[in-house]
Amino acid sequence: MAKLYFRYGVMGSSKSANALMVRYNYEERGQKALMVKSGIDQREGKAIVNSRIGLSYPCIWFDELRAMSASELRTYQCVIVDEAQFLSREEVGFLTEIVDDLGVPVICYGLRADFKGDLFPGSEALLAWADIIEEVKTICWCGKKATCNARFDENGTVLKEGEQVVLGANDRYIGLCRKHWKEGSLGPK
Ligand SMILES: [Zn+2]
Repeated sequence: MAKLYFRYGVMGSSKSANALMVRYNYEERGQKALMVKSGIDQREGKAIVNSRIGLSYPCIWFDELRAMSASELRTYQCVIVDEAQFLSREEVGFLTEIVDDLGVPVICYGLRADFKGDLFPGSEALLAWADIIEEVKTICWCGKKATCNARFDENGTVLKEGEQVVLGANDRYIGLCRKHWKEGSLGPK
């Protein structure tokens, strides 16, 4: 039976690289996996899943997924969604229909919570509805598991206030353990 997966992790936990490897594994076995990205920031124009380690692959925007017919969707063995935290609750509902009505598994990758420690709308719906919830792990600078996302400015000051999503902002993000996220500590250097 097809399942809805939510694989969550902090910034820099290789979620996109993981998504790209899953797609490649399907292709290697002669199967088709459809790569999709939430459409929150379409300024780049072409949709591409990029990972920090240099892997990338073209994908489609979420709106293009929604425009596909059921018969077209059934030609895929799997749908992979990157940046799933930005989906709306209603869009995650659409993904449950792909799983339940078409029998196509959907694997979502995304952040669990924002830099303030609040759930993203897509993550909230996925945590509530996914059949399988898995963590993509990475570590804080101290060696403990990183579970929180910190936003910091060009001076290295950790920001605690602001909008959940700021498109085009030059803020940077890093995954920290909860203790260092609370302290706003980016490490010794
Ligand atoms: Zn730490």
